[in-house]
Amino acid sequence: MHEMTIVANVLEIAHRQAAAAHAVRINRVVLDVGRLAGVEVEALRFCFGAARSGLSAQAELVIREVPARGLCPGCGATAEVSEPAAVCEACGRVMAISGGRELSVASLNVD
Ligand SMILES: [Zn+2]
Repeated sequence: MHEMTIVANVLEIAHRQAAAAHAVRINRVVLDVGRLAGVEVEALRFCFGAARSGLSAQAELVIREVPARGLCPGCGATAEVSEPAAVCEACGRVMAISGGRELSVASLNVD
């Protein structure tokens, strides 16, 4: 499963940073997930719950969904979009997308 690979990477980063900070426990992992990142948030949560261990055994996963913005090259309209091939509502052209593809650990809370 795609999401399990992502969670394994996220936990590896979290464990490495926690170890570097001499933490005894990871309380919370905050993840930025773009709307267009192609990731199922519910699957991420499920995998995270299943993959926690050691320092992260009790860790909470907080997911911040990052919106994607579309800019129309024709009329300059902007809109929040939820698909990569969004079309301008005003003039029908395909919008240029910025943001919404990120997938990164935003912050950690450790003891
Ligand atoms: Zn337009």
